[in-house]
Amino acid sequence: MGGRGTGGGMGRGMGRGLGQGAGRGMGAGMGQGGGMVAVVDSAKCVACGACVSSCSAGAISIASVAVIAAAKCVGCGACVEACAPGAISMKSRR
Ligand code: SF4
Ligand code: SF4
Repeated sequence: MGGRGTGGGMGRGMGRGLGQGAGRGMGAGMGQGGGMVAVVDSAKCVACGACVSSCSAGAISIASVAVIAAAKCVGCGACVEACAPGAISMKSRR
């Protein structure tokens, strides 16, 4: 006979109240670049277009030379590395 469970009372109600309020506050706003914007030196630019595809923000287009839309640029600096002639540099927006 036997075997009717006695068991009450073990772990019920574990873990409540873990966790809330952990990480908040990442990722608001653009943390990249801190107010920098890329600028093209039109004397050095050979309009190769390498910077256009490097720019994930879509800020660069090619006219007679590369043109960077400062309003779209997030200051990541990727285009600076992409530009073999070294025509792009970063400057402060201020
Ligand atoms: S990568 Fe440099 S040289 Fe090529 S288009 Fe862009 S700015 Fe001009
Ligand atoms: S710094 Fe970044 S976002 Fe700005 S133009 Fe260059 S690649 Fe695009």
